[in-house]
Amino acid sequence: MKRDVLVFGELKSGNLRSVSFEAVAAAKKMAGDGQVVVVLIGEEVQRYPKEMIVYGADRVLTVEHKNLKKATTDGYAQALFKVIEEEQPDGLIFAHTTLGKELASRVASRMEAGLVSDVTGISREEEVIVFTRPFFSGRAFEKKVITEGLMMVTIRPNNIPPLERDPYRIGTVESVDIEIENLRTLITETIDNKRNGLDLSEAKIIVAGGRGVKNAEGFETLEELAEVLGGTVGASRGACDAGFCDYSLQIGQTGKVVTPDLYIACGISGDIQHLAGMSNSKMIVAINKDPEAHIFNVADYGIVGDLFEIVPALVEEVKQMKV
Ligand code: FAD
Repeated sequence: MKRDVLVFGELKSGNLRSVSFEAVAAAKKMAGDGQVVVVLIGEEVQRYPKEMIVYGADRVLTVEHKNLKKATTDGYAQALFKVIEEEQPDGLIFAHTTLGKELASRVASRMEAGLVSDVTGISREEEVIVFTRPFFSGRAFEKKVITEGLMMVTIRPNNIPPLERDPYRIGTVESVDIEIENLRTLITETIDNKRNGLDLSEAKIIVAGGRGVKNAEGFETLEELAEVLGGTVGASRGACDAGFCDYSLQIGQTGKVVTPDLYIACGISGDIQHLAGMSNSKMIVAINKDPEAHIFNVADYGIVGDLFEIVPALVEEVKQMKV
């Protein structure tokens, strides 16, 4: 089997997102003996091709233009159409991020291609590529195939492991010249809202707080635990609605979908809309004073008790382990 697969290598705040390496691993599965080609769009992207190659890319295409310094769907889609026209790939992979989702739907529509979104697994059954994705808010999984034409997918971060880094791997790097026309939107400035530099959707450890955290000060306790564990803080909508924290931290059906290695839910009841965003986490620890709380139904470990006693005790314990 031989398919050439194009990967949109996504950058954020001047760094390659870790899901871009996962996308290369996904592309390898689809490509078989074909090529994995990564396209990097933006500003000074010449810095990143080597890193993509050592993680499995065969070729890297760089697209730079003054109007592509900040990502817009309009501009990046124009760049991608040009690359697709020249490369004629069999498959195209994006990260299931805000930008990836927007771009994938626009490109799929223009190319009249089949698109499977939020993919968490890729397998090959003889010559057919099978995509696995969650549905019913993560309570079930479905398998999908694209029967003809360009195969497009978005992959959920933290699900498809990246390939092992091979520092001796070689590949080619080419730059693509492009004219950007009639841009309807230009981003002139972005203001970062992250508190500790870690992106929720790619974080490996999340300490999430709910209405049980009581107030904004309560979240400082959670931040301490997140910091000693090397993770980041998330929240339920209950906590966001109550004004304890920013909506950018919201996890769930109308917030972010996360799949960390460890999810610690503190003072969160576990309503279905919250579970929709975190129930596929690899390990879930729940801290709640109500032994009947629904969150315990999805937890691997449950601690019944007052989070204001348990969280500081955990912080101390982790600190001791590090000494
Ligand atoms: P609560 O349900 O009030 O739970 C608080 C928990 O804290 C309780 O279980 C309590 O026992 C525990 N507790 C209290 N004090 C302590 C203590 N000292 N120590 C330990 N435990 C304590 N919600 C989301 O989270 N994300 C979404 O994306 C989302 N989208 C929604 C979309 C729609 C259309 C709708 C209708 C709702 C949505 N919701 C969402 C809201 C959701 O239904 C719940 O209202 C919300 O998740 C509840 O938040 P909570 O668990 O923090 O609060």
